Amino acid sequence: MSEQRPANSPTAPAAKAAPTHHAAINPFAVKGDELVIGNVPIRQLAQRVGRTPFYAYDRSLLDARVALLRQHLPKAVKLHYAMKANPMPALVCHMARLVDGLDVASGGELAVALDAGADPREISFAGPGKNEIELAQAVAAGILINIESPREIELLTDICARCQLPARVALRVNPDFELKTSGMKMGGGPKQFGIDAEQIPAVLARIGELAALAKSKGNAHSVQFEGFHLYAGSQNLRAEAIIEAQQKCYELALRLAQHAPAPVKTLNLGGGFGIPYFPGEAPLDVTSIGQNLDALAKRCAQEMPHASITIELGRYLVGEAGVYVCQVLDRKISREQVFLVTDGGLHHHLAASGNFGQVIRKNYPVLIGNRMQSTTRESASVVGPLCTPLDLLADRMDLPQAQPGDLVVVLQSGAYGPTASPQRFLSHAGVVEVLV
Ligand SMILES: *Cc1c(COP(=O)(O)O)cnc(C)c1O
Repeated sequence: MSEQRPANSPTAPAAKAAPTHHAAINPFAVKGDELVIGNVPIRQLAQRVGRTPFYAYDRSLLDARVALLRQHLPKAVKLHYAMKANPMPALVCHMARLVDGLDVASGGELAVALDAGADPREISFAGPGKNEIELAQAVAAGILINIESPREIELLTDICARCQLPARVALRVNPDFELKTSGMKMGGGPKQFGIDAEQIPAVLARIGELAALAKSKGNAHSVQFEGFHLYAGSQNLRAEAIIEAQQKCYELALRLAQHAPAPVKTLNLGGGFGIPYFPGEAPLDVTSIGQNLDALAKRCAQEMPHASITIELGRYLVGEAGVYVCQVLDRKISREQVFLVTDGGLHHHLAASGNFGQVIRKNYPVLIGNRMQSTTRESASVVGPLCTPLDLLADRMDLPQAQPGDLVVVLQSGAYGPTASPQRFLSHAGVVEVLV
C-alpha cells in the first residue's frame, strides 16, 4: 500500500531510494503556509514557546479523541488513561477530567496522578519490580495495585499491618495465549509481566490464607482481592486481533474467578489500541471493538455481576494530538543527498529515530510546518545534531524544499516522546513541552 513518489527537485537529483508516502494522517488545520496547533499558527507558537525544539499537544484533539471513543464504547466500560504514554502534568490534569481513571507505572507517576486530582479509587498501578516505598505509597493513597508477583502480596501484607490500612489488589495475569500481530507483545509465553495464569489459583488461595491469618492476629486490614488485570500487548492496528484478545482475556478471567476469595469487582482487559505511524498503516477501526465490548459487558453483568470492565489506553488517547517541532540549522548536500540538519533529534524523540522498539526503521510522518503549500519538493533526510548516524528523523523523504530557520514537524508524537528519550545524551538542553 505504500505509494512511492519520485523526487523532482533540481537540487536533489537521483536520490538513491524513492521516498515512501504516508496516508493522510495530519489531524491539524493548515492556514496559509502554516500548520496550526491548538488554533496557533506554528511560527507564532514557536515564538510563544521561546525556543526550539519543543513538543506541543493540542487540547481539542485530546477532547475529540476521548469523545470518539465514548461514542463507540458502551457506557458500562470504563476508560483509563495509561500515563506512561505521556506524563506531562498539565496533560495528565486535562486527561484526568476526560477519562474515568488513570493507570500509573511508578511512584513518580502516582504523585502526578494524585496532583491531577484523579479519584484514587480509579487509579491503578501496574509494573514489575515495585519497591516497598512505592507499595506503601499506593496503600496510603488507597489506589488499586495490579500485582505482578507473589512477592508483592507478602510485602503488602506487612504494609497493611504496619499502616493499619487495607491494600486493594487485582492480579495481573500473564495469559496462556498471545495477542496476534501486536507491535509489542506483553503477555503469553514466559514474561516478566504479571503472574502466569496457571499460578493464579494458588496465589488467590494465598490471599485468602493471609486474610485469615491477619484476622487471627487481630489485624483489621489485609490484602483485598478486587479483580484481574490482563494486558496482552501494545500498538495493534487490527481490530479483529484486539477483539480476539479481549474475548480470550474475558474467558480466562471468568475461569479464574472461580478460585477467587471474593467477587470480582474490576476486570481490566488492557488496551493495545494502535495509531498509524508509518507509510501504508491505516487507523484502527474502533466500531467493531466497541460492539464486542458491549457484548462482553452484557455477559459480564450476568456472569460476574459485581464487576465492571475497564480498558486502559495510552498512545491511542494522546499520540495523534502531539507534534515535535525543531528548527533547520543547516542544509547540506553530500554526494547529491540533501541533509536538513536540525536542532532536534533522537535525544528528544527516540521513537521517531527508529530506535524505540522498531525492528525495521521507517519514517514517522514529517512536515515542514511553515511550507505547507509549497510545490517545490525534494527528497531530503532530516538529521539531528548528535554525533551518531542513528540521529535521523527522516530518511530520504519527499518534503518541501527547506532552508535554515524552517520548522520541521514530526506528527504522531504525543506519546512516548520526551520521557522515552535519552535527553542527557550529548548534553544538549532538555526539550520543552506545551499544551495548547
Ligand atoms: C504501556 C502500557 C499501556 C499503554 O500502552 P499504549 O500502547 O500506549 O496504549 C497500558 N497498560 C500497560 C499495563 C502498559 O504497560
